[in-house]
Amino acid sequence: MGEIVKPSPPYVRYLQNGGEMGALIRSFDWSKTSLGQPDTWSQNLLTTLGIVLQSRVPMFLFWGPESIQFYNDAYRPSLGNQAKHPKALGQSGKDCWPEIWAVIKPYIDQVMGGGEAIWQEDLLLPIYRNGRMEDVYWTFSYSQVIDADGEIGGVLVTCFESTGKVEAHRSLNQTLGRLAESEARMSLLITQAPVGIGVLKSRELLIDTANNKFLQFLGKTEAIIGKPLAIALPELEGQPFLQILDDVYTSGKAYASSEVFALLENNGVLTEYYFDLLYQPIQYEQGRTDSILVVATDITEQVKARHTIEQSSLQFRQLADSIIQMVWVTDGMGMHEYFNKRWYDFTGSNIETCKGEGWNQMFHPDDRERAWELWNHSLKTGEAYEIEYRLRNYNGDYVWVLGRAAPFYDAEGKITKWFGTCTDIHDQKLLLEQKDDFISIASHELKTPLTSLKALMQLINRMKDKSLTPRLSGLIDRASNSADKIYKLVEDLLDASKLNHGVIALNKTLFILSDLIADSVNHLTIDGNYSIKTNGAIDLEVCADAERIHQVITNFVSNAIKYAPDSKEIVINIERIDTGAKISVIDRGPGIAQYKTAQLFDRYYRVDPTISQKSGLGLGLYICSEIVKKHGGEIGVESEVGKGSIFWFTLPY
Ligand code: ADP
Repeated sequence: MGEIVKPSPPYVRYLQNGGEMGALIRSFDWSKTSLGQPDTWSQNLLTTLGIVLQSRVPMFLFWGPESIQFYNDAYRPSLGNQAKHPKALGQSGKDCWPEIWAVIKPYIDQVMGGGEAIWQEDLLLPIYRNGRMEDVYWTFSYSQVIDADGEIGGVLVTCFESTGKVEAHRSLNQTLGRLAESEARMSLLITQAPVGIGVLKSRELLIDTANNKFLQFLGKTEAIIGKPLAIALPELEGQPFLQILDDVYTSGKAYASSEVFALLENNGVLTEYYFDLLYQPIQYEQGRTDSILVVATDITEQVKARHTIEQSSLQFRQLADSIIQMVWVTDGMGMHEYFNKRWYDFTGSNIETCKGEGWNQMFHPDDRERAWELWNHSLKTGEAYEIEYRLRNYNGDYVWVLGRAAPFYDAEGKITKWFGTCTDIHDQKLLLEQKDDFISIASHELKTPLTSLKALMQLINRMKDKSLTPRLSGLIDRASNSADKIYKLVEDLLDASKLNHGVIALNKTLFILSDLIADSVNHLTIDGNYSIKTNGAIDLEVCADAERIHQVITNFVSNAIKYAPDSKEIVINIERIDTGAKISVIDRGPGIAQYKTAQLFDRYYRVDPTISQKSGLGLGLYICSEIVKKHGGEIGVESEVGKGSIFWFTLPY
């Protein structure tokens, strides 16, 4: 006996397949709904459900007066993950869609009432799904389904969720908006760019685009847009630009050049310009130039400024070449950059041999070390220098020159250059040497007879008695005074020439400075009007040549008496300093102008050579300075016009 197969009820055939929703509909307990079990469902509902379940188009069915709901697998994703699915199956529309019921109820009513089918595109119906309210866009149709009794039994909703499409659309719009915005910004940027930008179209070079700067260079308004370049700027004829542009157009090769000179008409005046220029062909198709992008940067100011500098540097060179002195320039580190023509003529050398060590060969071997030492000191300290040395000329003869150099500071206060000169002082130097030789010989020869004259005068002075008439006695006094003065002058001359030849040896002993000072002051014939005070370290002892230091102090004090006659008080100050002793002679006389003080210790220098009544050769301070230097000390003066002078020197321990 075969197994009896129970025939399945006819409705089953309509609800076959249909994926997840098919299974859910089949297993759903429909008895709890107003529709009752599927075997009681009308043929029309079953037919419609069959269509819904089989369809791959998202479909939703409201059935009966309560709008009991069915939907297929294709619709299912529109309900999201939780909350609505699978609850929506068999639920009444009102319970399922509280958030949009007010919107969709009228559609259902319209269709149930026999009205026209509804068609909506991209309608925003925010629904609650995935645990939150979501903005969902729908494109849908609501259409009637006739039931078995001929009445409208339900509403078939065929719908697509178009949220994705709407959003894509919106973001496309946004992108387009942004694109338009950035294009506008770009075009504004080009318009206001600080360089000239233009586009020339076709081989005719029609002005297609011209930004503000470009128009400004051309001295034109936007009216030139659309015109061929050659017509818009007739002044270009005879200048190379049209030809270059045509070459760029035909060859497709860019042209870039800096400092291009151009004459452009500006307000009716041909104006000179210098540009950094770029002609860039634009090709949308390989080998076919569509247009040419022109980028022009105005560098007229810079180029003109450079021309001015070049001009003034040329003028400097011409000036430097025309003067009698040799002129040189180094960088901040002392590397030689420039020599004038006179230099090359003198040395018979070229720039290579004069660089750096090349100089060495030109110095006299005896002056080399001294010159380098001073130059290096200047480089280190930034102090200007002045020095006499011998340089070898093109003949191989050594010539005395006065070398001077001064630093040049830039705006930040950094030394960027040194300017130097060498002045030929050979003849003066020889004359001075001859003079020195003569003075040396003459003073030497004069010293012996003068010494005897001075001794004789002293003898005569001692032999004076009352038998002499006052007139004769006075004459003897004056003669002996004059002999003293001549003796002093000749002594100075002899000393100066000895010091100059470096032939004075020091005879050092230990002595107390204040004792020596007291002795020096005693030797001076001072009238009662003066008071000389010695202050300070009275007991300070030094090791020096007492006779020479005596000479220095005597010179300082007699100068104070001689040149500051109204200063009735002269103060001598002895000071203990770190390195030794400092002796200052202070007067309240007329003082000396600052700019003259540097030369005071030079040979034969007198501040006011016209004061003939004050005897002197301008040698005293020179002798003092040589003596002090020989001791390893320093000498100097601080003076202010109208206030007085402080002459000082130091002696090391
Ligand atoms: P001189 O033989 O002319 O006195 P010095 O070398 O001793 O030579 O002095 C040089 C110059 O310095 C003097 O001619 C004088 O003009 C100036 N001088 C020296 N001492 C003083 C002083 N105390 N006050 C003002 N001028 C002075």
